[in-house]
Amino acid sequence: MGGTATVTKGEAIYEGKAKIIHATSSPDLLIQYFKDDATAFNGKKKGTIQDKGVCNNAISSHIFGLLEKEGVKTHFVSRLSDREMLVKKVSIIPIEVVMRNVVAGSLSTRMGIPEGEQLKEPVLEFYYKNDDLGDPMINRYHISAFNLATDEEVVTIEKEAFRINKWLLSFFDRMGIRLVDYKLEFGRSPEGVLLADEISPDGCRLWDKTTGEKMDKDRFRRDLGMLTEVYEEMKRRVLAAK
Ligand code: ADP
Ligand code: UDP
Repeated sequence: MGGTATVTKGEAIYEGKAKIIHATSSPDLLIQYFKDDATAFNGKKKGTIQDKGVCNNAISSHIFGLLEKEGVKTHFVSRLSDREMLVKKVSIIPIEVVMRNVVAGSLSTRMGIPEGEQLKEPVLEFYYKNDDLGDPMINRYHISAFNLATDEEVVTIEKEAFRINKWLLSFFDRMGIRLVDYKLEFGRSPEGVLLADEISPDGCRLWDKTTGEKMDKDRFRRDLGMLTEVYEEMKRRVLAAK
């Protein structure tokens, strides 16, 4: 690619709930700017978590860098500053991939099983990424019938999601964290399907193995307090891990 050291930040092309996407002087690169804004329940609950953006950028950058070393193809290029990540531009596949290892959240409600029950094998779910519709759950047949992704892309996404899960489970376990569930996004690029967006406490359920304490955005969703403290603690643990 070349010349990434000289990339300059251009105009904001999209502002989402947690990040702002900027164009850059290179047509195939973007900058993700991580905000402190927090939302839950499809944007109905709004707030800010001081320094969340700094923590999420550091955590995501570290994890994406390590996943790349494991051979996972991601959009990550480099961490430019406290709140900015340089990424390869992709066309986001409008599917949210949720991977679950432990029953929690909507799975607990849907199946009538209490939160905390270990699943005997990971469960992968697809949701249609559409805020207006509240991200409804879909399956492979919907993906095919509505042309959200090709069969080949779905195969790649599933294969990569299980590989990422295996690695993430062990990664978080080593720092005393139970990886309950999380959301992944993938995008199309000239290099093929890449893991995109972020992996941070905003999109993961992370429970302390010793205390059971929630170390993620559920603290915001459920008004548990200690928000910045928990994001800072996750940043500290993630950055110390390899
Ligand atoms: P949302 O759109 O759900 O409010 P964010 O505030 O996190 O989410 O905004 C980031 C947006 O950028 C998301 O829509 C995400 O799908 C998109 N995105 C993430 N990585 C890339 C990338 N490499 N190229 C293009 N878009 C991306
Ligand atoms: N998730 C996410 N964004 C979404 C939906 C879910 O990051 O739009 C994450 C969420 O943080 C959790 C996992 O995906 O780690 C599973 O979420 P669930 O389906 O249980 O939804 P919830 O009950 O949190 O609304």
